[in-house]
Amino acid sequence: MVAYNKPIPDPEQYITKPFWDGAKEGKLMLPRCTTCNKVHFYPRAICPFCHSTNLEWIEASGEGYVHTFAVQHRAFGGWAEETPFVTAYIDMKEGDRIFTVLRGVDPNAPDLAWIGRKVKVEFDKASDEVSIPFWRVV
Ligand SMILES: [Zn+2]
Repeated sequence: MVAYNKPIPDPEQYITKPFWDGAKEGKLMLPRCTTCNKVHFYPRAICPFCHSTNLEWIEASGEGYVHTFAVQHRAFGGWAEETPFVTAYIDMKEGDRIFTVLRGVDPNAPDLAWIGRKVKVEFDKASDEVSIPFWRVV
């Protein structure tokens, strides 16, 4: 197996720890406000919609739709070896939007018809402690 050579997040930061703990188990965990019931991403200590601090973590479906995308021809670190690749914003089924590398599409033939395509999360094991979510067109 080739060593993972891209930047790896610190999974022990208290605000994002449940997200990374879930990813390690192959689960997409998202913060949800128990006051307004909206899911948000990235994880925060305060709900960005109603400013409540009453938050919980839910296991999300990992399903969503492509909101928009871009083809990356330049990148740094280990990502440079993968250019060109596609990044996208995903509208998650549970709410809010997440940025990701989009898989299952050909970066050499970008197509506006990808917008709105259904996607599903998958996880790459970056280290023994960290797995990183990506979304793939289904
Ligand atoms: Zn709220």
